[in-house]
Amino acid sequence: MAVFAVVGAGLSGMTLARELEQAGHRCQVFEKSRGRGGRLATRRRDGWQADHGAQYFTVRDPAFQQEVDRWLAEGWVAPWPVSPVVLDGDGVQSSPDEQTRYVGTPTMNAMVQGLSEGLDLFVQTRVDRLERVGKQWRLWDDQGEQYGQFDAVLLTAPLAQSLALLPPGSNLEVPLRGTTAMLPCWALAITFSEPTGIEADAAFVKTGVVNWLARDSSKPGRAAEPETWVAHFTAQWSANHLDASDSLLEQQCLAALRRLGQPELPAVSDRFKHRWLYARSGTETRLDAAFDTNLAIGLAGDWTQGDRLEGAWRSGHRLAKTLIEQWA
Ligand code: NAD
Repeated sequence: MAVFAVVGAGLSGMTLARELEQAGHRCQVFEKSRGRGGRLATRRRDGWQADHGAQYFTVRDPAFQQEVDRWLAEGWVAPWPVSPVVLDGDGVQSSPDEQTRYVGTPTMNAMVQGLSEGLDLFVQTRVDRLERVGKQWRLWDDQGEQYGQFDAVLLTAPLAQSLALLPPGSNLEVPLRGTTAMLPCWALAITFSEPTGIEADAAFVKTGVVNWLARDSSKPGRAAEPETWVAHFTAQWSANHLDASDSLLEQQCLAALRRLGQPELPAVSDRFKHRWLYARSGTETRLDAAFDTNLAIGLAGDWTQGDRLEGAWRSGHRLAKTLIEQWA
């Protein structure tokens, strides 16, 4: 049996920790924020909630479909019967496809919560430094607390945060050279005092500063009222407006919503904003061999396998397989 430290309690970290524990190993998971799920995030407000991070996920890989079938059986996820339109310079275009889009129920991180049951999780613990002690690792948090010892450390935070912890000389640095930093994304969630009358439940927005609009209250497991919308802003605009005010975000969001065919919108009754500094990678990165055997350091995260939720799962699943073989 080996003892592993997993940094990050998002989907990749929790998939990894769960599979390692199932194979008889021990894991301690360290998470800097208060909750689990990373960018699978839902915020609850007075009488409403909205998913401000990942909006939904799709499945391409049959192995991932098997996992999602388990999540469906547990009730952690459900299909969102949505048919997003495309909003471009010419207006609203319907754009039907055969894609099944899933969401966590009742919150986006439900499957991460499910996977983490019984795992040894330290929240509000920001890992600051790794120390090699013989063939083992010791971890230090930003309060000077020490954890360990561990047979390997598995970094699952976004690229910039994982790179900051990666020890110098690791062969994992080489494939990461040239990858640009991850890109930001502003999210705004708003509720309306009355129904908007907008037909579409979601839109891929091709022109302007917003690139995604979704009626969050149309997702399964959510209350239909109050009508709730989430807007995501382009990486470029988000980077240029890192200090955007609530009112600027709301103004832009309403302008985009009006283009969906309702020039007169009811009053906004509540709102919140969230700035994701590390929303998606700037370049497509594929890191298939994500374990440095000499240093006993591993990497996982959606950014190692493309930017999608499926990539997060696959990266955690693959790294678990490598480690289980190594410590057989
Ligand atoms: P997907 O298959 O629904 O969409 C992938 C992309 O293809 C969409 O962004 C859209 O531009 C296009 N597309 C898909 N269906 C379309 C249709 N019917 N008509 C026109 N265009 C269509 O989803 P996925 O590949 O699983 O990706 C998940 C979603 O998460 C994507 O929308 C992706 O862009 C988004 N994402 C956003 C962020 C962020 O920071 N905002 C980060 C990661 C992923």
